[in-house]
Amino acid sequence: MTKIFFLGECMVELRELDDAMMGQSFAGDVYNSAVYMKRCFPKISVSMITAIGRDRLSEKMLSRFKSEELDTQFVFRHPSKVPGMYFIETDSAGERRFTYWRNDSAAKKIIPFLNDDVVTQLTSADMFFFSGIPLAIIDEDSRDAFWQKLERLKLAGVKLVFDPNYRAQLWASKEEAIEQFNRAFQISDIALPGIEDLSVLYGITSAPEAIDFFQQYQLAELVVKDGPNSVVTLTGTERLSHQIIPVTNVVDTTSAGDAFNGVYLGARLSGRTVFDAVQLGAKAAGTVIQHPGAIAPLVAFKQAMSE
Ligand code: ADP
Repeated sequence: MTKIFFLGECMVELRELDDAMMGQSFAGDVYNSAVYMKRCFPKISVSMITAIGRDRLSEKMLSRFKSEELDTQFVFRHPSKVPGMYFIETDSAGERRFTYWRNDSAAKKIIPFLNDDVVTQLTSADMFFFSGIPLAIIDEDSRDAFWQKLERLKLAGVKLVFDPNYRAQLWASKEEAIEQFNRAFQISDIALPGIEDLSVLYGITSAPEAIDFFQQYQLAELVVKDGPNSVVTLTGTERLSHQIIPVTNVVDTTSAGDAFNGVYLGARLSGRTVFDAVQLGAKAAGTVIQHPGAIAPLVAFKQAMSE
């Protein structure tokens, strides 16, 4: 069975329903990608690698992973920490604002759980996905250990996949993020950066500039996402520019890139061409942005993907 591991943090999501009530869900970039991959490619074994607590919300999060049919063998239970949380607020102008409580979350402590034995088990994967968010939140003194574990996976033939997903507030400085991202690009086989991140970090504002920039790395596959404008891919020497059909009724762009990543990679793992994988990834992302929140309702999502 084809197997992928997603390393990262899933958080408790709160949103205001009215003055008296909150809606509660779960989301986080790599979790979102894992969910959309599994929904579209049920035959792939999709596992989350994360740490949660022993509290009631952690129980509910674990149940949610299971109900999305994600493998939870590598979801570790921290004895004293709890999951991170964020609150989405919509102001009178319709702009969304996020407030986070994640500085002491269980997921920050994931690396010590990944002992030699666990890493040996992870070498059975076809693919390992991580983003700049887990990279930012893991304790600084765990970083060397993290890179060593990735080296082991790479040596064992696991394809490493990275999306920078830059969040300025999670990094001490832009330079620190750039230094870590450069390491990630160096070790990765596939990178799926968005132009917005590349622009903020490297001053890259177009797909051709991005392609030039990534020549210094040994990526087997590069996928540059530019919102509704285009997706440009480079596989070996084959460069393709894919047209995106802009969605007119955008409700919430949260997790567009995550949905794209999950479905694109699922398609590639299933043997689909880069062209087909981009079409499917874009369809998933275009569907997700027509629903509020990171995770679109299952039935509506599956219906849209089957049309
Ligand atoms: P990221 O969230 O990683 O920055 P993008 O904003 O580039 O990524 O969006 C990811 C994907 O979502 C795009 O490649 C595209 O397929 C889709 N997408 C984003 N915005 C739109 C839109 N307005 N209309 C249609 N598709 C969109």
